[in-house]
Amino acid sequence: MSKQTQDLLSALGVPSSAYTGGSLIVRSPIDGAQIGAVPEASAADMTAAIARAQAAFLQWRTVPAPKRGELVRLFGEELRAHKMDLARLVSLEAGKVTSEGEGEVQEMIDICDFAVGLSRQLHGLTIASERPGHRMMEQYLPLGVVGIISAFNFPVAVWAWNSALALVCGDPCVWKPSEKTPLTALATQALFDKALARYQAAGHAAPDHLSQLLIGGAAVGEALVDDARVALVSATGSTRMGRAVGPRVAARFGRCLLELGGNNAIIVTPSADLDLAVRGILFGAYGTAGQRCTTTRRLIAHETIHDELVARLDRARAQLKIGSPIEAGNLIGPLIDQGAFDAMQKALAAAREQGGEVSGGGRALAEQYPEAWYAVPALVRMPAQTEIVKHETFAPILYTLKYKSLGEAIALQNEVPQGLSSAIFTNDIREAELFVSASGSDCGIANVNIGTSGAEIGGAFGGEKETGGGRESGSDAWKAYMRRTTNTVNYSRELPLAQGVKFDV
Ligand code: NAD
Repeated sequence: MSKQTQDLLSALGVPSSAYTGGSLIVRSPIDGAQIGAVPEASAADMTAAIARAQAAFLQWRTVPAPKRGELVRLFGEELRAHKMDLARLVSLEAGKVTSEGEGEVQEMIDICDFAVGLSRQLHGLTIASERPGHRMMEQYLPLGVVGIISAFNFPVAVWAWNSALALVCGDPCVWKPSEKTPLTALATQALFDKALARYQAAGHAAPDHLSQLLIGGAAVGEALVDDARVALVSATGSTRMGRAVGPRVAARFGRCLLELGGNNAIIVTPSADLDLAVRGILFGAYGTAGQRCTTTRRLIAHETIHDELVARLDRARAQLKIGSPIEAGNLIGPLIDQGAFDAMQKALAAAREQGGEVSGGGRALAEQYPEAWYAVPALVRMPAQTEIVKHETFAPILYTLKYKSLGEAIALQNEVPQGLSSAIFTNDIREAELFVSASGSDCGIANVNIGTSGAEIGGAFGGEKETGGGRESGSDAWKAYMRRTTNTVNYSRELPLAQGVKFDV
């Protein structure tokens, strides 16, 4: 196991017993080297952890929300102090280039700041009552235990989006991270434990089990999903996972927040600033080696500019520097594992069969890193939006399509089963407004003159259709982590019934 990983984990406060001698072998996608052997939890461990979380909930829900915010503020301080170490660990374990690893931790810090402010603004409405001497209001109250299932590609930020809000809302969290990225999860949990210890040492009454981490496979995840004490299951990952998790939570009338796959498109119209569009598409399609839920997977360009735009993109694509994500200058890191590379090759073969003309897409750096899976980003000129184009392949493949009318472009954009992110590049205000209108993009995110990826935490994040319908992060996404009660208070000496109903004896 690499000394660098060990040093980082130690600096982040993770004891070596947490990542040595266990059954879950962790490999760095950078070179395929083993960087951990993590002990795994069982389904019974998960059930016991949920019981501890439920006990913690009974206490935490009585702590005033601004005081709960103080814990999240301290956690944000720990993240600031350890930003570079945690970011480097994200690069080593998930293969993100340095600035994207740092960006991921910055996102955690930002959501903590957001949640601290929110802890003084968890407000409901006062509503005019139709009855004299009555007041009607709604309150948002703590919901209960929140279960968090996260994906490999945002191994720590997605947990922070959920937990920072859940904690200020009064909900303890139980986290099952991706089995591909347990080390970053261990480090994040260690930083949280440190913040909690500081909070308790400062005299705040807080239970111990406000955040628990359980590493394991599907059985551990299923124990979380099926437990009626888990009031909200927030699950981020593939649509396949959402299809398994959603109905199970629904069967017990639990609440589910699903953040699933995307198949995001950019429309480029004749009036667009092509320089801007090229930059937006390149980062969107190939940044993070195509492994973002918001990655641009489809380009829909007007027939008068398609060929020129695609030729420019193809030239720029061929120049993107592929290599170790922790070496300066490289923009494209590795795919997470061989499975991801094989899925990419399968998709490219299908695209060829369906009439696509493929540039790039092969294996890169195989001699230097025989145990790792670097891919040359691919661009595929498609004759039509065939089946493979409608499918999310989690790899750097950009399909290009032509359109004649904007109506046709929007129809193509909306024709896929996923509905996460979308964008239009145009300098025509009518086109821009139509795109973000009710007759425009059907996605949860619709942008103008910026790409599909790289959302800010201030907005609500999520998408429609097979993306799952959940919203996380900013705006009023916090409401998913609370239960709403409507209260009517009678301060008169009468008891008038609503709607004028009489019931006098
Ligand atoms: P994945 O679906 O393979 O795994 C995600 C998580 O679900 C893991 O923790 C996994 O252990 C767990 N899981 C899988 N099956 C389960 C089950 N039956 N019960 C309980 N838990 C289960 O996804 P991945 O490969 O880690 O991530 C890539 C996918 O995630 C892509 O489809 C991507 O679009 C999506 N994603 C979506 C968002 C979003 O916000 N919409 C964000 C990041 C990633």
